[in-house]
Amino acid sequence: MWTQIAVEISKTTQAKFTVEQYHSVSGGCINQGYQIIGKNRSYFVKLNEPNRVEMFAAEALGLKQMVATNTIRIPKPICWGATDRNSYIVMEWLEFARGDNKSFEKMGRQLAAMHRVKVSSDFGWEVNNTIGATPQINLKTANWADFFAECRIGYQIKLARRKGGNFSNKIIEVVRKKLADRKPQPSLVHGDLWSGNAAVTIDGDPVILDPATYWGDREVDIAMTEVFGGFPAAFYRGYNEEWELDSGYQQRKIIYNLYHILNHFNLFGGGYGSQANRMISQIMA
Ligand code: ADP
Repeated sequence: MWTQIAVEISKTTQAKFTVEQYHSVSGGCINQGYQIIGKNRSYFVKLNEPNRVEMFAAEALGLKQMVATNTIRIPKPICWGATDRNSYIVMEWLEFARGDNKSFEKMGRQLAAMHRVKVSSDFGWEVNNTIGATPQINLKTANWADFFAECRIGYQIKLARRKGGNFSNKIIEVVRKKLADRKPQPSLVHGDLWSGNAAVTIDGDPVILDPATYWGDREVDIAMTEVFGGFPAAFYRGYNEEWELDSGYQQRKIIYNLYHILNHFNLFGGGYGSQANRMISQIMA
């Protein structure tokens, strides 16, 4: 398998590469991560079942589009595909360290700069991708409220029914109504920005990785950073200095994060169902 992957890396980079060592890298939720090492070069590789090539192709497209904004450091994708036993994606290897306030402030500023880039007049994206292991529907839509109500909340509620979750459909129309006046620019968003998907290199450069990219309201990324306890205060300071959040963010945040909690219910079940129900009651109140 490593030989097949090395051949593909050699082709793409037009420089012969052979795998001399590999180590497993922990921290992933969905895939098995590895560092592969050859002469003078190293890469990060994620492996999954052979039928997950499309997931990796979409991840590579998202990474490429984010790299192209030239705003914040993103691991550059090299190649992806399938061997006889696995699907895989290969990207540049980055060496991470503990970030300080300066690097988190820079992360905030650079994320805001990425959000500012005008890339599309529609919300959605070019292809569907995944959020965790769940499909993420990116139907191109002109209206943000319709997009978020249907492709985000509506889709997760439909999935939840198959997992024994019984969330009322009424929330879909409530979300549509509550977002009706929100007319954001479609920004390229990371889409899954929890702390495990943000890091700082040994040179102090902020990095965001493992995205669920689409064109959406920039606030979804900031809201997601707050789901599991929040990023350092310096991050929000940097973001707001570059592009202040709009008023009403605090109310919209709960709507945007309901998507992730419903997704967690669909992935892991358990207490996420009651958390989703509490959020739904708050939004409907
Ligand atoms: P998964 O898709 O399984 O959730 P991630 O993309 O989040 O996997 O990667 C898992 C972990 O591997 C990350 O938390 C990070 O520590 C490390 N990692 C991710 N990308 C790189 C990279 N380009 N270079 C070095 N380490 C990386």
